[in-house]
Amino acid sequence: MLLDDIKFKLIPNPIAATVINIMTGRETNVCPAGKRSIFYTASGDVYPCQLYYTAKYKKLGNISDENELKININSYKLISRNEINECANCFAKSFCSFWCPGSSYLFSNSEYTVNKVRCLIERSIAERIIYNLALIFENESKKRKFIQNLSRYSQLYSPKNLWGVDS
Ligand code: SF4
Repeated sequence: MLLDDIKFKLIPNPIAATVINIMTGRETNVCPAGKRSIFYTASGDVYPCQLYYTAKYKKLGNISDENELKININSYKLISRNEINECANCFAKSFCSFWCPGSSYLFSNSEYTVNKVRCLIERSIAERIIYNLALIFENESKKRKFIQNLSRYSQLYSPKNLWGVDS
């Protein structure tokens, strides 16, 4: 962990968020689809997100039956990256924000896989970020300036400032 004394906000930009997660040791949240977000069709069928629309087994119910819907949402289990073979031992696991079970399902019919293209992008970005952070942190004045700018960016682009909500 490169920083533990600055409370950065969780900002809605995958690259800046990855930088902050690496620097603070903060873990990227698992996808909250099915818990904090849902998708429903014109006929009222409810799914964890739009990417699961073709996965009938993921249907949580219909808005006409509120009780069933509540039971299914409460018992809905989020998938952790540790359950995915490719992710379990990946160096980027704790800060990867590209793994998306819905898109994995769409591309390979299984949520327990990774989308190779998204994965390649995430690994390339993460490697580049780590490399550049190492260069910046070698130099005390660059390091100070970088932290100062990141902190300002984090304040300006926080979900609170952008949308008026806490992250
Ligand atoms: S980079 Fe790929 S393998 Fe690593 S955690 Fe992300 S999706 Fe999984």
